[in-house]
Amino acid sequence: MDFNIPEETVEIISGLKQFIDKRVIPLEEKNADLLYNERNYYLEDGRHHPKVEELRKEVRMVSAEAGFYTMFGDKELGGEELGPVTALLVQEAIGKNYANRKLIDPIVIPSPFTNGLTPVLRGLKQELKDEYLEGIRTGEKTLCFGLTEPDAGSDVWGMKTKAVKDGSDWVINGTKQWITNAPYADYCMLFAVTNPDLQANRKGGITCFFVDTKSEGFNVDSVIPVMGELGGEAGIISLDNLRVPEENIIGEVDNGFSKAMHGINNGRLGMSGKCIGLAQWALKQAVEYANIRKTFGKTIGEHQMIQHMLAECAMDIYAARNMALHCAWKIENSNKQPVKEISIVKAYCTEMLGRVYDKAMQVHGGMGISNELKLEAGYRFARILRIPDGTSEIHRRTIARSLLKGDLNFN
Ligand SMILES: Cc1cc2nc3c(=O)[nH]c(=O)nc-3n(C[C@H](O)[C@H](O)[C@H](O)COP(=O)(O)OP(=O)(O)OC[C@H]3O[C@@H](n4cnc5c(N)ncnc54)[C@H](O)[C@@H]3O)c2cc1C
Repeated sequence: MDFNIPEETVEIISGLKQFIDKRVIPLEEKNADLLYNERNYYLEDGRHHPKVEELRKEVRMVSAEAGFYTMFGDKELGGEELGPVTALLVQEAIGKNYANRKLIDPIVIPSPFTNGLTPVLRGLKQELKDEYLEGIRTGEKTLCFGLTEPDAGSDVWGMKTKAVKDGSDWVINGTKQWITNAPYADYCMLFAVTNPDLQANRKGGITCFFVDTKSEGFNVDSVIPVMGELGGEAGIISLDNLRVPEENIIGEVDNGFSKAMHGINNGRLGMSGKCIGLAQWALKQAVEYANIRKTFGKTIGEHQMIQHMLAECAMDIYAARNMALHCAWKIENSNKQPVKEISIVKAYCTEMLGRVYDKAMQVHGGMGISNELKLEAGYRFARILRIPDGTSEIHRRTIARSLLKGDLNFN
């Protein structure tokens, strides 16, 4: 077994850090009042201030120019297709070195399957690739992934949005909810039922459409503000007689759900890498504080209960990091998707992040819950991550089902 990080990955991470320090941090500092004051960051209705969107676009575009924005995108779409081990370690480096930064994650590198050169776009017809990919590749245009609905989250087969054929168009009606980047996206990968019988038998019947968000009948009605924020990234979309041409189908009719699964595992691993990096940042804050804060005549790091909390964080991080790396290595070297292991990693890493932030805050006493140290922001972020890309319960269900079918392999 070779546990060394490949030289190329080390160089990429070092180049990425230099890029962020030189091109992104100065932009953040110059616009700190806009980015770090929520009353400026969000408009009254919870959407980003247009200047925030301008800055995000600027960062996407310089990142694309520097080759970072597209490095994990498919080669056939114009990306570099770097593997999952590098993706995991890059996300770790971003979390560890740039926690709580507004213009870095997920902007310098887009979310692996819901934005940028997502593998879902492999199913686009050539003419549409020719028309749209360039804008997506340069970071000028962004996407959103419209799957979830008010009555269909974990159980996506419960989808009610319908597409009905009318001449050479499909006419779509329905509602989508919790769609990240919907309020700002140029295009949507939109899922709708095209064959209710197949859908009822959970055998297909769902189609993925490529939609321009400026089309008549596509409306982002509102933004969903999330824990402790005045606004958010996710929106509620209503589709009101939206007409989409047949050629905008991604992949095949009735087989869109397999498109939804394309790349979702990259998303889960990327999220896990982020958790591993952020947890290390939080532990570092706790260790530094434990070495300086004094109570009862000694530093709190000398109290055994504080030591336990620090040690438990380290145990959790080490376990999470190694299981995630092993899983990424497995994918890279077998070209198979180890479903059970990906679920173990996503559920463990997101839950681990919550535990580590909780302890890091406790070590800081009152300071831990103040807004000043940004530990509370990470704690809220950690709490959110147990829901998207499969809830913790759904991942446990997947793991248990694999076990019960006889997959007891941990190699
Ligand atoms: C921040 C954020 C961003 C998101 N971004 C997107 C996006 O870009 N695009 C998109 O399409 N969706 C997105 N989602 C939606 C996300 O995928 C769903 O929220 C998620 O799948 C859960 O669905 P739900 O919220 O409807 O909960 P439900 O499915 O209603 O679940 C409610 C509870 O029941 C549990 N549960 C459900 N079924 C079972 C079962 N069989 N066994 C045990 N427990 C069960 C769940 O774990 C949960 O605890 C996002 C969500 C969030 C929070």
